[in-house]
Amino acid sequence: MPSFFRAAGAQLEYLGPEPDRWRSRNLKEMDDAWEFDHYIDLENVPEGALDASDRYTFIAALYAAGIQRPQQSVGFLPWRILELYQRLQTEFAIWRNMEDDPDRPFVEARILNDAGILGHYVADAAQPHHTTIHFNGWAEGAPNPRGFTTDRDFHSRFESAFVEAHIHFQDVDAEMAPDPHPVENPREAVWEHVRASNRTVEEQYELESAYGFDPEAPAHPLAREFVIQRLVAGAEMLRALWCKNPLWVGPRLRPLPIGPKWQWRSTAFYGEPKARMREVKDSMTEKESVVALHDLEGMQDDLIKLFNERFDEINKKIGGLRMNLNITPKPVTPKPAPSAAPASRPENAKRKSKKPTKPKKTEAEERIDQIRSEVEKVLERLGQMETEA
Ligand SMILES: [Zn+2]
Repeated sequence: MPSFFRAAGAQLEYLGPEPDRWRSRNLKEMDDAWEFDHYIDLENVPEGALDASDRYTFIAALYAAGIQRPQQSVGFLPWRILELYQRLQTEFAIWRNMEDDPDRPFVEARILNDAGILGHYVADAAQPHHTTIHFNGWAEGAPNPRGFTTDRDFHSRFESAFVEAHIHFQDVDAEMAPDPHPVENPREAVWEHVRASNRTVEEQYELESAYGFDPEAPAHPLAREFVIQRLVAGAEMLRALWCKNPLWVGPRLRPLPIGPKWQWRSTAFYGEPKARMREVKDSMTEKESVVALHDLEGMQDDLIKLFNERFDEINKKIGGLRMNLNITPKPVTPKPAPSAAPASRPENAKRKSKKPTKPKKTEAEERIDQIRSEVEKVLERLGQMETEA
């Protein structure tokens, strides 16, 4: 993988959930354009319709089969994956021919955007719920002789809460095939990725009946293993599609810090022959530095927020007092530089009178102390990493 791609772990991870950020009931045109790309209800696809040459011919075939609202009843997930994959191929072909071109970073930005967003849909497809009419509890009106759950929270409980509670990076990492599997025909591979996921729908519901996917209770090993295998399927598919470009040889991808959501996890498992991945993982602390950086940035935000809150509070008080006292606001003057300590004060006396009685800390001050100690901890960790490296 080229170094710009390898270095973009955090960005690719950020982009994993990006298409979910485009979903908004208030922005109907945008929402309608893309919300049907997240799934395909394979049971509703008429025989042969997926042989269509492109998305539009596919839609025409669905209308021809009498489906009234094909976007809603069927969805377009495999098309979306293939379209993005081909865009990535195109962008990489352009990139390859742009050596020493000052515009090359713009192409790199495009590649990263599409690669990250591709990750979302590939991971969606690995979640069986995204490939079936039984997308959130067994479908109403469908025969249900085995009494599968109709719980309308099943979807998010399975892919978010359960994963959050019970699945760790190592679980998935350990099950990844050592090398990316070859992709002879990307279209066939994507279609099969979706169909394979759909073939696990009943098993998903059986496991729910037998053991449950409960974030609160200890997970049954079979339930966990099912989720892990689905995440592996998504991660391996994404890895295969990312690595399929013949250009992508040479320096390898590095593992990413993992995030909380289904996509983030899958995105984190892309890319590498496993042995090489381990080697890289063992030999570097960059990943930890990235996590530490995120921690520090988060704390910085907290401090700024806290400052702003206090500032507003004080401002309001000042405004109120002025109003009461009928004083017009005076312009804010910069704080004068602290004047030198009184000359008469001897040096050692200064040290002695170190602390007057300690006033009780306000909640805000306590929070600042807490953040300060967290910052110090992270800095210490960074220092350790530096000395170890
Ligand atoms: Zn989605």
